[in-house]
Amino acid sequence: MSTAGEAMAAAAARLRAAGVPDPARDARLLLAHAASVDAARVTLIAPEEIAPEIAERFEHLIALRAVRVPVSQLVGSRAFYGRDFKISRHVLDPRPETETLVELALSQPFNTVLDLGTGSGCILVTLLAERPDARGTGVDLSEDACLQASANAVHLGVGGRAEILQSDWFERVEGRFDLILSNPPYLAQSEMADVAPELRDHEPHMALTDGFDGLSAYRIIASEAQGYLTAQGRVLVEIGWQQGEAVCGIFRAAGWASVELAHDLDGRARVVCAGQPA
Ligand code: GLN
Repeated sequence: MSTAGEAMAAAAARLRAAGVPDPARDARLLLAHAASVDAARVTLIAPEEIAPEIAERFEHLIALRAVRVPVSQLVGSRAFYGRDFKISRHVLDPRPETETLVELALSQPFNTVLDLGTGSGCILVTLLAERPDARGTGVDLSEDACLQASANAVHLGVGGRAEILQSDWFERVEGRFDLILSNPPYLAQSEMADVAPELRDHEPHMALTDGFDGLSAYRIIASEAQGYLTAQGRVLVEIGWQQGEAVCGIFRAAGWASVELAHDLDGRARVVCAGQPA
């Protein structure tokens, strides 16, 4: 028998050897999950003997983390903009950078919103939760993602104002929206070899890359979104930090009147905002 603290230290060493970037933090979060305690309380249980069923559960979680399954998939949730979203291997793990897109969306009024490639639904559900009078549609090509987004909408209390559609971008979308936004797959196929194993091996490829140059989604959105926007409507798309010029160029070439680049908290280009074409 060992204590929870000893089990945690051994697990952290194992994760470190497996190349996990923050092994102590992950061991702590996974022990908390295995023991069903709040992560802040792990220190309190550390001197206690670890119960066999908790030890077994913890061992299983650590084995999966050692092959680089993301923590959010192991614990089944991820905090985004102050709310807990249910996550699985079928959806992109919400990233803190995407909160920049949410902030920009909330900086101006809107009643209707369309989220293209909604995934977990973190963007759409957050916006509807923050704007209790707004309604929105989220689309995804993946049926599993649609189920996940619907579950999150219901779980976070906006199910009655969110419509989730399985659709290839605008294919099945009807109507006009004050705000159209997307965090599309923007990695180029050539970048996929260099991404962390958590992404490459455990997150859905279709949420990460278009299998081409990483810009396909922007071409579709820039050429089609005007048909789905209200008169004062705007488009906000998340981009990779080196894609600012390319994506602004795509929108300008498609005739959008105002095209601006916004930066994330690290000062990196992160969102392109486009206003109605003339
Ligand atoms: N931001 C992701 C990453 O590189 C990419 C997700 C995306 O393509 N939208 O970690």
